[in-house]
Amino acid sequence: MANETFHFRLGTFNCVVVSDGAVAYSDPAHIFFVNAPKKRLEKELRKHNLDLERWKQYVSQYSSLLIDTGQHKLMVDTGAGDLEPTTGRLIPNLRAEGIAPDDIDTIILTHGHPDHIGGNIDSQGKPTFPNARYVMWRDEWDFWTSEPNLAKLDVDEGVKEALIKFAHNNLLPIQGQLDLLDRETEIVPGICAVAALGHTPGHMTVEVTSGNEQLLHVSDAVLHQIHLEQPDWYSAFDLSPEDAVNTRHQLLTRATKKKALVLASHFPFPSLGYVVRKGEGWRWQPIGITDSD
Ligand SMILES: [Zn+2]
Repeated sequence: MANETFHFRLGTFNCVVVSDGAVAYSDPAHIFFVNAPKKRLEKELRKHNLDLERWKQYVSQYSSLLIDTGQHKLMVDTGAGDLEPTTGRLIPNLRAEGIAPDDIDTIILTHGHPDHIGGNIDSQGKPTFPNARYVMWRDEWDFWTSEPNLAKLDVDEGVKEALIKFAHNNLLPIQGQLDLLDRETEIVPGICAVAALGHTPGHMTVEVTSGNEQLLHVSDAVLHQIHLEQPDWYSAFDLSPEDAVNTRHQLLTRATKKKALVLASHFPFPSLGYVVRKGEGWRWQPIGITDSD
């Protein structure tokens, strides 16, 4: 299917952004910008040709990343699986690329939200990637596999219960194939875990280096492009907003300094671009679009 995979090279690594589908969110202004003052939000949205009163729905892309380093075939995140009728495209899209789940030797899970771990298990509840070592931050694993306290999230109780149930169902079956990290670690040569807590207690991002090229996979440190322009506006799903905002500043500074290619899981497909300093914040420059200002 068109526009569900995007190939690029980073140094000597062959990379593919693989779509798992997309999901429409209602009430996007509340979900993405919980603490935004109304007047300022209206103004920011207008810059993106959006009207706050009429902005009822936002279609969020779900992107995973496949990296073939020559020695390893690695995936970052496994999509949402059967969470929604519009998700679960990851495996068919990988197969269309000639990649079978057995070929993948490493899976990095950036965090325990359903849209990043949903492809961990198949319809029988067994690990989808039988030969893979799954890698996750220890605090993240411990949080979701115990009885997580989601009291601080500004979302419905039903949503909180669903998050916990989904995490249990999709994490516990991979326990036998799991490596937990408690510090920043090179997972395979050229691919490093970067701590990025805030969105969740052990949210982790991934820095990929090959030759003199770098990619920073920021996962959910930003969910919408306006999070670059207004980096202090957090989302209803950020468990620790203050940490999420600090982490975001650090990651965007890092990406800008290193001129790294950035992958943001939920940005429009292929979710790749560069971040450019603008005023107190940054702005998104999608890949393939030439800078005009
Ligand atoms: Zn997400």
